[in-house]
Order: sequence, then structure tokens, then C-alpha cells
Amino acid sequence: MPTYDAVIVGSGINSLVCAAVLARRGKHVCVLERNSTLGGCIRTEPLNAPGYLHDTLSTAHPLFVTSPGYAELKDDLHRAGLSYRNNDTPTGVLLPDNRSLILATSRERNVSTFNALASGDGDAYLSAMQDVEQNAGLVFSLLGNELWSAGVAKTVAGRLWKQGVHDTVAFFSPALMSCRSWLETRIRSDLVRALLAPWVLHTGLGPESAMSALMGKVVAFSLEAVGLPIVQGGNARTVEAFRRIVESRGGAFHVNADVDDILVENGAARGVRTRDERVFMGKEIICNVTPGQLYGKLLAPEHVPPPLRQQAMEYRYGKGNMQIHLSLSAPPDWPQEHLRDVIYLHLTSGLDGVSRAVSEAERGLLPAEGTICVAQPCAVDPSRSPAGGWVLWIQVPECPRIIKGDAWEKLPPPRTAAGRRKSESATPTGSSTAFRARFQT
Ligand SMILES: Cc1cc2nc3c(=O)[nH]c(=O)nc-3n(C[C@H](O)[C@H](O)[C@H](O)COP(=O)(O)OP(=O)(O)OC[C@H]3O[C@@H](n4cnc5c(N)ncnc54)[C@H](O)[C@@H]3O)c2cc1C
Repeated sequence: MPTYDAVIVGSGINSLVCAAVLARRGKHVCVLERNSTLGGCIRTEPLNAPGYLHDTLSTAHPLFVTSPGYAELKDDLHRAGLSYRNNDTPTGVLLPDNRSLILATSRERNVSTFNALASGDGDAYLSAMQDVEQNAGLVFSLLGNELWSAGVAKTVAGRLWKQGVHDTVAFFSPALMSCRSWLETRIRSDLVRALLAPWVLHTGLGPESAMSALMGKVVAFSLEAVGLPIVQGGNARTVEAFRRIVESRGGAFHVNADVDDILVENGAARGVRTRDERVFMGKEIICNVTPGQLYGKLLAPEHVPPPLRQQAMEYRYGKGNMQIHLSLSAPPDWPQEHLRDVIYLHLTSGLDGVSRAVSEAERGLLPAEGTICVAQPCAVDPSRSPAGGWVLWIQVPECPRIIKGDAWEKLPPPRTAAGRRKSESATPTGSSTAFRARFQT
């Protein structure tokens, strides 16, 4: 039985980066995936329409291309076939009254467009982007590391040493602010607010969450800096590129390998056993799985300190997310033709609409008026559809994880296990806008 330097459980993007980085550093690695395909949330599928290619889960790579993993691996990845398509209009918003606004990759253009909408909005946006720039070391260290790691401690200590307590605290207090506080205190145009607010949803937060101002600013900063890179030919090509890097250095991938158990010797993880009783030994065992699975199933209780096990059991997952994939014979007929070039377009009634839908979803209700994110990969990659055609997905990021009802009170309550309708009633929001009518037709 071979002993690997590292056995990696799961084959999502985190495992792929981990495997490729270790393989490049001369380690003998093995990746185990329980599904029949590699990639985790990276999937490209034709669905039922020949000639159309849909990224059925993850699609765009703005965070990956700004990560240290990409910095280390990009030459190998592009040699192995990864290629990005991009443009200068990564995102935009369309309101029910047909007003729209685009966030471009040019800061100058964004500042002047926002200032034209409401005097001072562009300057406030510019100052937020400069804030991210000036604090980039600290911000990206906080986001890219375990909060209590030595790396973060070193960065914070360095900052305290160089800029003093006052300046460091001055960074943290606005960083903890909600996106709503930022937008309501600094931005006057409802259109600019509506452009920026939905992006906090992509980070799992809502406009009232702590730190959502920071996340909103960081996302806008990243979109300006790198756009929304889409993988030429579909995101699955990313997985193929990683696979080539790892296999060319002697690494191995096993699909249909459902890890059931971590083998522990003298307090250290030394191997894993799959459901079908195969054993893989490794000097390091790296699990990119959920905390509940790692501490509640893969490790036997005697190897997990009770407080850690408790913490894992209490881990709360975020909101649900729904995507519908469409294969179209022609691009959508947007109210303004240039919206066809926007890669991710949000349809929302604005900041309040996003807040309301988040609150409903967090209370278990299907939102009365969810934010809709429309992805248009064909805007940059025509190879995704036959000539003249178009693919898009529509995503509703404010879905309850467990559905207790619908905020609009139009659907029958969900059935209980016993088959009875739940009596728990949903709170009506009273909100209704042109969107509801438009999306019903
Ligand atoms: C609908 C949707 C759209 C998204 N869009 C984007 C996007 O456009 N851009 C972006 O950057 N991010 C996007 N994300 C987020 C992104 O997909 C995640 O951040 C990413 O998948 C995390 O990668 P991971 O490797 O940690 O886990 P995953 O991708 O979840 O992979 C985990 C893998 O581990 C396997 N596994 C679990 N347990 C075991 C076991 N016991 N034995 C063997 N294998 C196991 C699973 O089968 C799975 O393949 C999206 C997510 C969703 C759900």
C-alpha cells in the first residue's frame, strides 16, 4: 500500500489548489472524491440542449485570480489549457423602472458616472476604493487566512508597529460596519446603492451583517481590478488543467472514493478508509469537507476535544441558493442593449429590496421579491452556445435553507413529515413592485 505525502479528501477548488501546490513542491499527493466526477462545485454540463454548455454551479473566478494560489500556479494552469475570457463591464443592475447602471473596470469611469448621478457619490466611492488599496495587506490577510492564525497576528502586529494604535483602530471600526450604514451615510443615489448592495449576497452576507461594508468594498475593488474572468469553454476546463498539473508530477485522483473514516495513530491522522474499505495512508491528511462531517463523522469522538465537537455541531450554514439554467435561441431583449455585455446583472428594487429578501430567507420564508442575479457567460465566451444562441443562469441567492413558508403567502404551506400542512404562517411583507408582474409574465 503506497504512503503518500498528502492524502486530500474532496476535489473542489480548495483541494485542487492544495494538490497542485504540493505536487509542484515535489510532494506525492492523492485526491479522493466521493462523486463520479472531480471538481466539487465546478461543473460544466450540456443539460438537455445539445451545443449549449452550462456552468451549473460556480462560474466566475474573480476571487481565485486574486488569490495566492493563482499567483503560484497561473503559469502551469495556462500551460495546461486554462484560458480566461473577460470584458470591461463585469456587473450591473437593472431596476423595475428600467433604470440601469454598470460597474466598469475603469475607476475613472465609475467615479464620473456615480458623480453624475448624485454629486459626491463618485468621490465617496473613490475614497472607499482608496481605503481598500491602502489597507490591502491587512484586508487580504484577514480574508485569506484563519482569523486566529500566526500570519494574521503578524500582519496586525506589523500594522500596529508601523501605524500605531489609533490608525489601526480607525481601520477596524469602519471595517465592522454594515453595508447599509456605508451606503446610507456615503452614497445618495438609489441606483448606485442598488448596484453595490447585491454583491454582499455573493459573500454569504446581507446588507445589515457586520463587516458587509468591508465585503462590499472589497468585491467592488476586485471587480474593478480583474473583472469577472470566465473560463473559455466552461469551468470544467479548470479541473482538467489542475488534473494535468498534478498527474504530470506523479499525483493520483480517485473518484467514487467516499471517505468514511480517518485513521488515527498516537494522536495523529495517518490515513483514511473509504466506504468500500479501501485504505490510503498519508503523512498528512487534508480534508476540505464541512466541519460537521470532519468532527462529527470522519474522526471518531475520542479524537475530537468535546468543545470542538460541540462547535462543529452548532455550525450554522448560510442561506440557500437556487439557479435556473436557460438555453436560448437568442440573447435576452434587455431594456438597454448594452446590458447584453454585462456578465453578472442584478435585478432588484434596490437596497431595501435586498435587505427584505435576506431577512425573509433567514426566517425560513421564500422571499416575496428575491434579488435575481443573471449570469451571461456568452457575453465573453460565444463557444458556450450554437451560433446566435445564448446561455444564462438566473440565481436567487436569498433562499431559506429550510422552507417554512413564502413571504407572499401564495403557496400552500410545506407538508410536515406526517403529511399535514404546517400551520406556521408567514409574515406578509406588503411589498410588491413591477418586478413581480414582470417575472410572472
Ligand atoms: C450555486 C453556486 C454558485 C457559485 N458560484 C461561484 C462562482 O461563480 N465563483 C466562485 O468563486 N465561487 C462560487 N461558488 C462558491 C464555490 O463553489 C465554493 O467556494 C467552492 O466550491 C468551495 O470549494 P471547496 O473545495 O471547499 O468545496 P466543494 O467545491 O464543495 O468540494 C468539496 C468536495 O468534497 C467532496 N467530499 C465531501 N466529503 C467527502 C468525503 N467524505 N469523501 C470524499 N469526497 C468528499 C464533495 O463531493 C465535493 O466534491 C458558488 C457556489 C454555489 C453553491
